[in-house]
Amino acid sequence: MEKIAPNNPDEIIVIGGGVIGLACAHYLSVDGKPVRVIERETVGSGASHGNCGLIFISHLLPLCAPGVIRHELIRIFRRGSPLYVKPSPNLFRLAWLLRFAAKCNPQHLEHAVRARASILQYSDALYQELFEPEGIDGEHERKGVLLVFRSGSDMERYGQTLAGLERFGIEAKAFRGAALTDLEPSLRGDLYGGWHHSHDSHLRPDAFIREWKNLLVRNGVQFEENCIFQRFVSSRPESVTLQTDRGVFTADACVIAAGAWSPQLIRGLAVRLPMQPGKGYSITFANSLGCPKIPCIFEERSVVATPFRNGCRLGGTMEFSGHGTHLVKKRLENLRKAAGEYLRDPPAEPVAEQWAGLRPIMFDDLPVIDRVPDRPNLYVATGHGMMGVSLAPATGRIIADLVAGRDPQIDISPFGLQRFR
Ligand SMILES: Cc1cc2nc3c(=O)[nH]c(=O)nc-3n(C[C@H](O)[C@H](O)[C@H](O)COP(=O)(O)OP(=O)(O)OC[C@H]3O[C@@H](n4cnc5c(N)ncnc54)[C@H](O)[C@@H]3O)c2cc1C
Repeated sequence: MEKIAPNNPDEIIVIGGGVIGLACAHYLSVDGKPVRVIERETVGSGASHGNCGLIFISHLLPLCAPGVIRHELIRIFRRGSPLYVKPSPNLFRLAWLLRFAAKCNPQHLEHAVRARASILQYSDALYQELFEPEGIDGEHERKGVLLVFRSGSDMERYGQTLAGLERFGIEAKAFRGAALTDLEPSLRGDLYGGWHHSHDSHLRPDAFIREWKNLLVRNGVQFEENCIFQRFVSSRPESVTLQTDRGVFTADACVIAAGAWSPQLIRGLAVRLPMQPGKGYSITFANSLGCPKIPCIFEERSVVATPFRNGCRLGGTMEFSGHGTHLVKKRLENLRKAAGEYLRDPPAEPVAEQWAGLRPIMFDDLPVIDRVPDRPNLYVATGHGMMGVSLAPATGRIIADLVAGRDPQIDISPFGLQRFR
């Protein structure tokens, strides 16, 4: 394996070339810092590749909310549930699930909604500066997100939830019966209705990552692909030294942004990162036939349909089964079945890609964006769960602020490591 020549010790090293690692590299480089990204495989090969690409700023509700446990248990018994927990004597997973269940209470809901509102709106504003001004296209389009309901009671219940989110500026318009198919003709005529969050937008993740990486390369960011971080050799106030399978790097500071693998990287640092990989699946179709024009979430099935310029993606499911990304046929079939329950003529062939990826999920469903205690030059940016694309610019900007010693522009206390102590 080719070894890397000694690097510039003044640079900042970002471990992980997903959407979060790129965002950190971007804002560090905007600050004029020399930056190097270390990626085990290729940039964008993790969860950031085949996700649904929604920049879903209106999505303030965390996964852990009152009633969620009961709701999911009922769905499991009705079959076709998007949730699967592998039965195994894994004590970390069990402890994580118990802590998740404990967070399904009104106090945490209020805390998480406030925190998510603040960071999502910040991210939305930063995205505006990223697309046209920086020349990134990423197939970005602002058509909103349409939450589609088969059941009237589910739709009206969401309306009540929305009333509680108005104070954060979240709005959606209801479309019932024929009004729904007038808005989105690809939907079946027997659905109850939908809520259209018109402010939200979407992009094509692989195109976005490719263009963002190219921009960073033009701006001088170095990328080491097929380079596996192994361990921290030392971290002193003035520098951090890390061992990879292609040699040793010394840097001014290091950002851990390795998605669902981040807990493995911080082993030995006396820091807790209670995360579980939440496996999701997607099927990408090579053309847009039968696909909605507006990105849709089929609510009762928790399946997303995202239109691309040339193609369409169905994505969803939440499987807690460890770090494997092998494809389980049944879960891919469930995505297609769900699409058939909502779409008149669901996308079929040709299939461009079937994919599975791991969402990095904290039990309180809030990301971790912080400096590692007692390690002045180590930072963590991970745990974005189902929202990594939506939260990337805010995360990168906050990390750059912390590295530069500036106060971040939003309150970052909900995203601190101290909450796991
Ligand atoms: C089906 C599905 C649909 C989704 N839809 C959406 C959506 O619509 N909107 C949204 O906002 N979010 C969505 N998400 C969530 C989003 O994809 C993730 O939150 C986001 O991609 C996480 O980015 P990341 O950079 O933290 O992780 P990753 O993209 O996984 O990147 C981490 C990188 O670290 C690298 N790495 C790991 N270990 C090492 C090591 N030792 N050395 C070097 N490199 C290492 C990995 O190879 C990987 O490339 C979805 C996820 C899934 C699975």
